[in-house]
Amino acid sequence: MSADQVFHSRSEGIPSEGVKDQYADGKAARVWKKFIGDSNQRTQNYKDFLIGLLKKHGCKKILDTACGTGIDSMMLVDEGFNVVSIDASDKMLKHALKARWDKRKDLKYDEWVIEEANWETLPRDIENLMPGTQFDAVICLGNSFAHLLDEFGDQRMQRMCLQNFAKCLKPGGLLLIDHRNYDAMIDSGATPGHSIYYNCKYPVDIKTSVLVVRGKPELIALDYCIDATSDGEIPERSEFRLCYYPHKLKKFTEMLDDAFGGKANHHIYADFKPLDQVKNPGFYIHVMEKTKN
Ligand code: SAH
Repeated sequence: MSADQVFHSRSEGIPSEGVKDQYADGKAARVWKKFIGDSNQRTQNYKDFLIGLLKKHGCKKILDTACGTGIDSMMLVDEGFNVVSIDASDKMLKHALKARWDKRKDLKYDEWVIEEANWETLPRDIENLMPGTQFDAVICLGNSFAHLLDEFGDQRMQRMCLQNFAKCLKPGGLLLIDHRNYDAMIDSGATPGHSIYYNCKYPVDIKTSVLVVRGKPELIALDYCIDATSDGEIPERSEFRLCYYPHKLKKFTEMLDDAFGGKANHHIYADFKPLDQVKNPGFYIHVMEKTKN
């Protein structure tokens, strides 16, 4: 899907066809494991942040709403959490399902639930899968939420999906959701090749294109080029494009507060550290704690 196609479908008023699976051609899914690196080597500060926060709040039952190939979910399963993982892309889920199969002798992995579901219909999807279930924590990490573009130009789907995340939480539960520092990316027109989340050992180049409509940045297309040929498994350089909605920190913060009807404590971290400690972070991580009543 090119940036132009996304723009045209909205401006010509064509009704929504539902969320597009940007991973459907399998290109990104094929090289994703190389891109994110060995799950055992997941960057330590990320692991300490996520596991530390979940344990501090006594969270046990976790919903990973963008499990992709399963990397975050497996880290949580390994740490003894009860994990339900969903994703809209069967191309990505295929890798998570295989990872679970490969670990089938490990009893913890028996409990790991993996299903196809979509943020747009999440409460209904969860109700159908496991009636009456609410979670201690919902996570949507790895710049995933920005995959949801703004088809109608008023961010209505994004707002609805954030509300859906809130609905899946028990009172007192946590939502962890992140986005790249799009404010900086729009200013500089560049994307850092190194991510705080991943330990990619191959050369990664990311070309950044910003689509501006009537003075407002509406979409960022990232063209990834990963040269993972050195170990012989992937014969040629991998190229794929992913398009993102460029969430600005201030607006996204307001949208999250609205999604919880103001009934949540909202903390923002920069690259997993307190906001005032990092000057130009790559990522912002929002932690919403739903109030108890
Ligand atoms: N958290 C993982 C995956 C990141 S890629 C990681 O860090 O590796 C983003 C994922 O979000 C993709 O697998 C994509 O299919 C999923 N996604 C995008 N839009 C979605 C939607 N509307 N509903 C469910 N999953 C979605």
